[in-house]
Amino acid sequence: MLEFDWPTTGNENRLAELERDIKSGQIAHAYLFAGPAEVGKLTAAKHFAKLLICPNQACGECSDCKLIRGNTHPNLTIVDELWIEGINEDLATLAKKSNFNQSHRTKNPKAKTDTIRIDDLREILSRLNHSSADWKIFIVHDIERLNREAANFFLKTLEEPPPRTTFILTTNNLPLLLPTLVSRCRVLNFGNVSPSAIEKMLVKKFPDLSDSDRTRVVNFAMGKPIRAQKLAADPTVFREFKEYFEKLKNLLEKPNTAEKLAFAERVSADGLETQKFLEAFAYFLRSFLLTRAKNPVANSRYSPQKIVELIRRLDVTRQMVAKNVNARLAVEDLLLQI
Ligand SMILES: [Zn+2]
Repeated sequence: MLEFDWPTTGNENRLAELERDIKSGQIAHAYLFAGPAEVGKLTAAKHFAKLLICPNQACGECSDCKLIRGNTHPNLTIVDELWIEGINEDLATLAKKSNFNQSHRTKNPKAKTDTIRIDDLREILSRLNHSSADWKIFIVHDIERLNREAANFFLKTLEEPPPRTTFILTTNNLPLLLPTLVSRCRVLNFGNVSPSAIEKMLVKKFPDLSDSDRTRVVNFAMGKPIRAQKLAADPTVFREFKEYFEKLKNLLEKPNTAEKLAFAERVSADGLETQKFLEAFAYFLRSFLLTRAKNPVANSRYSPQKIVELIRRLDVTRQMVAKNVNARLAVEDLLLQI
């Protein structure tokens, strides 16, 4: 049972661990919230920081809470979205997500990806003020974005943690991190959330959603409460997901090599797209398997054995992608097995 009111859905056992730390005063130097994207790791990290800073359990009313809400609290640094040339250039909008100074990224050589480089890390850590008695908290979202050089620099910081400082890191790709970095952190594993918990959240937060739309949102969310919120709040996101699922269904039902290759190219364009595809595909295969188990179809191109084999191949693809093997080749290889 949780004592505090967390703005998250699911993963209560992890949050209970954080509450125990707060109550015992045993706050770690570094936490690592690991698990799939869109399950609420960053939301949990922000609320944990608020609970640590606000003298009254994240009351929402005090000056600390107000500064945190405006993303301007001097003791809370958040590294979320980054300035990227041609993609994410509006510094005012970015300041609502990340509150360290990013102007160096706009100068030559301009940042072209969301890799966190050593100059970013220097800028972030310049917010450490050793003379201040206040507790400093740094949230770094998707820590796997650190390049090798930055990761080594950060490791040195974690090896000699500055006093009265807590780092809250998140990752959706634990295998990509330096093991030495992971071992310096208290790791909390977040997981997917049950459909019933997501449905309950939707009823509460989106009371106007029709029953049929809510069922679809729960299905498309595939255990990700943050994705469910985006789907429920934004008709464009909802439509995109609907089209995506139609496309996948088509690929499975009427496989066509040219379409498969085009699709592989599209979903391997960036890491997040690949992740989304792998999840959606796994979801499809599992629901296919369940339907087939209930209603066997004679002469279908997808026998239960074939589906189980595809699930196994999907796991191999997932591992290859996690290890940074060429994602396009890995996805092509998987789709050509259909
Ligand atoms: Zn407060």
